[in-house]
Amino acid sequence: MVTILFHSTIFGPIHSRRLGTSLGVNLSPIDGKVCSFDCIYCEAGYNSQGAGKAGLPSREEVARLLEEKLKSMVANGENLDVITFSGNGEPTIHPQFPEIIDDTIALRNQYFPNVKISVLCNSTRLGDESVVKALFKVDNNILKLDSAITSTMRLIDQPNSPTFTSEQVVEQIARFGNQCIVQTMMLRGWHDGCRIDNTTTEEVEALLNAYKRINPAEVMLYSIDRKTPEENLEKVSIEELNSIAETFRAAGIKVQVN
Ligand code: SF4
Repeated sequence: MVTILFHSTIFGPIHSRRLGTSLGVNLSPIDGKVCSFDCIYCEAGYNSQGAGKAGLPSREEVARLLEEKLKSMVANGENLDVITFSGNGEPTIHPQFPEIIDDTIALRNQYFPNVKISVLCNSTRLGDESVVKALFKVDNNILKLDSAITSTMRLIDQPNSPTFTSEQVVEQIARFGNQCIVQTMMLRGWHDGCRIDNTTTEEVEALLNAYKRINPAEVMLYSIDRKTPEENLEKVSIEELNSIAETFRAAGIKVQVN
């Protein structure tokens, strides 16, 4: 199994092809993975590897570690574009996610007032009002929608909840409208004997209708970049991603291809 875990709560800064110079905040354990999805392409590996022994970092620990890092970056004259919540799982699962966002905004304002705060979110916790309220406070809500067809989404993302549907999540994402960026992983391949392909005409049409309903600030289309836990997956070429993007752009959707 492929497993690339972040072994610290604050990591980087790293250069992100999508976000620029990004300081990462990992609200999952530093020795395991905790996620409400179990995506077949997840760079952190499958959930079956376990949650480790370290547990989730406390709110106080996250604030302390983040402040230490920001302070030293200011002292060293380092550049920073964005503080990004990602890491070994879904950040909004952390029970103190709203408070951690408040702390992060305060620290950002103190040390790097022009830096953006981004959250890479798998959209599974948008039914929780405290999570939604916290997400509305950050600069970039990057919300995952890998397929607008539930059966395909369930094959790709393998949600823990048996009742999680694309229809429901599209309505929840639509509350954010142009205050969100929708991120879609395009891929083809096989998993557990099932063919997966979210680049078909039917899939692209369903995504187009979902994007129109959501009306996001932007859509980010990307494909596999590194090794994936499911080995029978195929990267969609940049040319094909651009061609799919044109279909969305023709309908007035702003699309970034990575
Ligand atoms: S939502 Fe993100 S962290 Fe969770 S399984 Fe999918 S890719 Fe991995």
